[in-house]
Amino acid sequence: MIEIKDLHKSYKMGSNALHVLKGINFTVEEGELVAIMGSSGSGKSTLLNILGMLDVADSGEYTLDGVPIKNLNETKAANYRNKFLGFIFQSFNLINYKSALENVALPLYYQRVPRKERQERAMKYLDQVGLKEWATHLPSELSGGQNQRVAIARAMASEPKVLLADEPTGALDSTTSYEVMDLIQKINDQGNTILVVTHEDDIAHMCKRIVYLKDGIIVEDKKVKQVRASTHV
Ligand code: ADP
Ligand code: MG
Repeated sequence: MIEIKDLHKSYKMGSNALHVLKGINFTVEEGELVAIMGSSGSGKSTLLNILGMLDVADSGEYTLDGVPIKNLNETKAANYRNKFLGFIFQSFNLINYKSALENVALPLYYQRVPRKERQERAMKYLDQVGLKEWATHLPSELSGGQNQRVAIARAMASEPKVLLADEPTGALDSTTSYEVMDLIQKINDQGNTILVVTHEDDIAHMCKRIVYLKDGIIVEDKKVKQVRASTHV
């Protein structure tokens, strides 16, 4: 599903450059649930943003579902992004003045999905995350955990091949974090490929594989026995 070879990325800092990714190699098969771990500043978000086509690497190869991701113009990149990828962020990134349902439906509008189908799909995914009853509520009327579930429904509504989550539980207390991980595990159980950036060990062990980043390289990449989040809640 994802194949990267010798990925490098630097940020220009005046006349210097900060070399953040120094030759990353890894492969993710369809249906995997992978945690990306590493201390703050180790390049986790940089890597995820490149995988999510929100940023580009300086060198290296990236193939997503058999498609080489290279030298794409904005339109093509946006099309692939919509087709292949769903994003979940620490801060939810919901629109404050729109209801839960409207937030979930909005990306479908930009993908030119007809109005009726948008509404139906948004409601279907809100239902899947257990928030059908909250469809007309604004983000300010929902808890942090509920808002993250709205954000997950929004990511799922485009029916992407891969979900990318950057510290999805970073703003949540541990009980709520486990509820969100329970949902992520259930989505993965249905066969969706998911990558989760985290710096919390318990969250990482709720995945099936942990990739450790340090000083711009992968220092460890291991399969783990998955801890089910539902045993904690
Ligand atoms: P992590 O997500 O693991 O905390 P990041 O990928 O966000 O790490 O950042 C890795 C390093 O790159 C950090 O030192 C950060 O300050 C730096 N960095 C990230 N984004 C930029 C940017 N747009 N410009 C300059 N430096 C950046
Ligand atoms: Mg980060």
